[in-house]
Amino acid sequence: MKSKTIYILLLLFLFGNLYAQPVRIGLLNDHLVEAFSFHCMEGSFELYSGETKIKTIQKGELIYFSLADKGGILINNGKELKGKFTSLKFIDPDFSSQFSLKMIHPMLPTRFYEGELEVNMHHGVFRLINILDFDHYLAGVVETEAGPGAPDEFFKVQAVLCRTYAVSNWDKHNSEGFNLCDNVHCQAFHGRNDENPAILDAVYSTHDIVVADKSYKLIEAVYHSNSGGETQKAEGFWLENKDYLLSVLDPFSKDQRNYSWEYKTDWKTWQSYFAEMGVDGEKIDNTQLLIKQDHRKTYVSFGKDTVYLKNIRDDFGLKSAFFDTYLTDGKVILKGKGYGHGLGLSQEGAMEMVKKGYSYRDVLNFYYFNIMISDLNDLPVNSVPEIFR
Ligand SMILES: [Zn+2]
Repeated sequence: MKSKTIYILLLLFLFGNLYAQPVRIGLLNDHLVEAFSFHCMEGSFELYSGETKIKTIQKGELIYFSLADKGGILINNGKELKGKFTSLKFIDPDFSSQFSLKMIHPMLPTRFYEGELEVNMHHGVFRLINILDFDHYLAGVVETEAGPGAPDEFFKVQAVLCRTYAVSNWDKHNSEGFNLCDNVHCQAFHGRNDENPAILDAVYSTHDIVVADKSYKLIEAVYHSNSGGETQKAEGFWLENKDYLLSVLDPFSKDQRNYSWEYKTDWKTWQSYFAEMGVDGEKIDNTQLLIKQDHRKTYVSFGKDTVYLKNIRDDFGLKSAFFDTYLTDGKVILKGKGYGHGLGLSQEGAMEMVKKGYSYRDVLNFYYFNIMISDLNDLPVNSVPEIFR
């Protein structure tokens, strides 16, 4: 018997679980889920309530879950009620089963998952937790965040950033019984990676690789869609310096899909916005309210009054804070560049870099400064959560 097989059997014996590193993901916790269905797509699942096995769910079986009037979870196979429970666990006995979840109340699109599922109640609605292998989770995140059609080397860039984020935020939802949630509060995870196998390959080939700053601390792995030709420095957004988030001129983002945008508003709306922001109306003239950014700025000043560009972006719902304004026929035209906050890596720029032959390490070193691209195991113990030591 090969040593790897013996090792896997030993792991199975010790932990009853094949996941090298399991992660617990809170699913759809930004929705108040009151009813959903579970569909076994591959393999089978053992459904447990505490230590008691309720049933084996075979491939193709569809089960409905809803809330009981006075609390508790009702299970229904579409024909008859199977009972009322307080918490449930779906065990995958052969570590290769797959399922889909369809939220019925509220109505949401079906999503596909692998691994195990825990279902319990919290404040009168369902709490759903998917437990799966960390690398498989990362592949799902990369597919959600980057889409399935990007170049293979770009998937490595995205995998390293998503891993860095997940490890440094491992305890973010501890009090809720899971590590990370599946929406943008943490990282978007819309289910298993099933559209492009190159994504899982990229996760495996960068296994345990993360990005740290020069004091061995994991970086805030921020990225955005397109920099508009110049990234934003940390203090331009957070008003706090980070020596790995400096501004870089980014020719790779130019002329990509989200490179430029335009927005129009009335001159009166524009004026009254600045008045609301506390800028003294008497002092505002047309020329002062017209903004020019040859390079990214943090704020615009009117005497002692200051308005932050990131606030203008938020308040008008703009694609970026990197724009110039022009006044024509009573309208203010905003001609903008880039999409997103502009911090760290530009995804479209990074895709262009790898198409030109740069490696994932070159890309990370271009967008982040003073970094170490390192194996998790080579970092000092206080730089990573206990579970990774
Ligand atoms: Zn979260």
